[in-house]
Amino acid sequence: MEKSQSLPEFKSASNLSWRYSQDRIDLQSGVKADISKQSYCPVPVEVYYNESFTCLDCGEETVFTALEQKHWYEDLEFNLSSQRIRCKKCQVAYKQTQDGQNQICMLTINYDKNKNKICQHLKAVEKAYGFLPLPFRK
Ligand SMILES: [Zn+2]
Repeated sequence: MEKSQSLPEFKSASNLSWRYSQDRIDLQSGVKADISKQSYCPVPVEVYYNESFTCLDCGEETVFTALEQKHWYEDLEFNLSSQRIRCKKCQVAYKQTQDGQNQICMLTINYDKNKNKICQHLKAVEKAYGFLPLPFRK
């Protein structure tokens, strides 16, 4: 029984975590992780690196910095497998669109009472973004 109780010791593969693809990171940018703050994951990440990626919305090459990762995975307790997929500019635009849609959805729960608010909001959304959320397009 004693033998089976000792778990294998996890080490990041050649000190580079499973999380990173070698050709996408800047090895000079390493920031030490605090493993005790990472949310549950069988294999922790010991060092964060600046990681380049292509923004989902605008297609521009951008960087998910080591410090942003530290904030995501330690302060915000995001799962280590979650990745940034949008550049900062597109993330802000996406969030605003989502917030707008969520607000409209909440208002439509009581449509008759909120009809005026909904119309006002839709006009503002259309003005700001040049389009309406899907369910409200003609
Ligand atoms: Zn973008």
